[in-house]
Amino acid sequence: MLVLPKNTEELKRVLKIVAISKKEFLVMGNGSNILVRDGGFDGIIIKLGEGFNQITVNKEDQTLMVGASALLSRVARETVEAELTGFEFASGIPGSMGGALFMNAGAYGWEMSQIVREARVISRDGSREYTLLNDKMELGYRSSIFEKTGDIIISVKLKLDTGEKEKISETMKNLTARRNEKQPMNFPSAGSFFKRPEGNYAGKLIEEAGLKGLMVGDARVSPLHAGFIINTGNAKAKDIISLMKLVQSTVYDKTGIKLEPEVRIIGED
Ligand SMILES: Cc1cc2nc3c(=O)[nH]c(=O)nc-3n(C[C@H](O)[C@H](O)[C@H](O)COP(=O)(O)OP(=O)(O)OC[C@H]3O[C@@H](n4cnc5c(N)ncnc54)[C@H](O)[C@@H]3O)c2cc1C
Repeated sequence: MLVLPKNTEELKRVLKIVAISKKEFLVMGNGSNILVRDGGFDGIIIKLGEGFNQITVNKEDQTLMVGASALLSRVARETVEAELTGFEFASGIPGSMGGALFMNAGAYGWEMSQIVREARVISRDGSREYTLLNDKMELGYRSSIFEKTGDIIISVKLKLDTGEKEKISETMKNLTARRNEKQPMNFPSAGSFFKRPEGNYAGKLIEEAGLKGLMVGDARVSPLHAGFIINTGNAKAKDIISLMKLVQSTVYDKTGIKLEPEVRIIGED
């Protein structure tokens, strides 16, 4: 079941009902880091609706209040207009603000932890609304406290720096060009499939294991960037998961390194 609460009050009500029903639930951002198994998700998907989409810029203190469902590409455009720098790294990540904070999304040496000041959060049972400061979010490599608590991010306050419009826009263009050149943007994927193992790169290990281009059904280790698993046609979730397991076991046998998926896999087979 998909539920689209329009505002905080509706969200709290939904969460209270879900808590009583004891059904499993998942808050979905833009869904860019989620893989649903072929049997679907037998729970409740909560997607934050239009009331969670607002962006308020304060040029004076270089902060932005961003609703959790606002897309990072839109936030990026606002930062260009407001001449605020620090968000360039996130401009090409196809996620929402809530998903990006949950994942502590990052690129090119930057991550959300460096620009997030605080977040407004609702407890998973809908009973409590609170502000969480950055240093209490346990932001690590593609991880955060929200994974543990299951609480819902409703808005995020970012702190950026004053910059120059041309320069900010130029940096974003360069990063997009770099992304288009190095990543398989013309096929569906969930981005980098695996987390970066300590001191190494998943793509490099997969390539060195000779797995670039390997296919299971229509799922393929991208020939352009071995860290991506792409859907070349009608790949089922089971093809993607079989390919993931094959990659994990081959890399483990060759290097002793366990690759952990960055992509969040949910639902039933
Ligand atoms: C082509 C491509 C390129 C990518 N490049 C990058 C990259 O450079 N760097 C990077 O870090 N990632 C990258 N990603 C992965 C993904 O885009 C990011 O992780 C993004 O931040 C996920 O945001 P989302 O809104 O899509 O989250 P979703 O995929 O919808 O959800 C991800 C997780 O966050 C949780 N969540 C979402 N919203 C909330 C909320 N409001 N409150 C609580 N929990 C929430 C979900 O329950 C889920 O567990 C890429 C993906 C693709 C497809």
